[in-house]
Amino acid sequence: MKKDEPKVMSGKSGSRGQKSRIRCEVSTEARGKVEINRELCKGCEYCVSACPCSVLRIGDEINRSGYFYAVVSEPLRCTGCALCAEICPDIAIKVWRKVNRKDK
Ligand code: SF4
Ligand code: SF4
Repeated sequence: MKKDEPKVMSGKSGSRGQKSRIRCEVSTEARGKVEINRELCKGCEYCVSACPCSVLRIGDEINRSGYFYAVVSEPLRCTGCALCAEICPDIAIKVWRKVNRKDK
């Protein structure tokens, strides 16, 4: 496999390590960017479980409300699929997806 060739893999889902039904592609360059508003996060872990590429985890620090909030731990794995943002009940996540010029 060439260095920059995306590889297709089955993602692990969340901290429980269960296999997700969704397949994710992991490349050497992130195709998405996630921003988590730590003060809105309640630490429910829904986003961690939903991410097919194990990009997110619950961090070691608490926010002003006393919750351990979600953090991006593997940014290069992000595909920009936005499943994390869709499932977040507190609308704490924003996702940007990288668009190639030829896709415009
Ligand atoms: S957009 Fe969210 S769910 Fe999708 S790969 Fe990135 S962190 Fe994971
Ligand atoms: S789903 Fe939203 S509230 Fe829950 S841990 Fe993730 S960012 Fe925080």
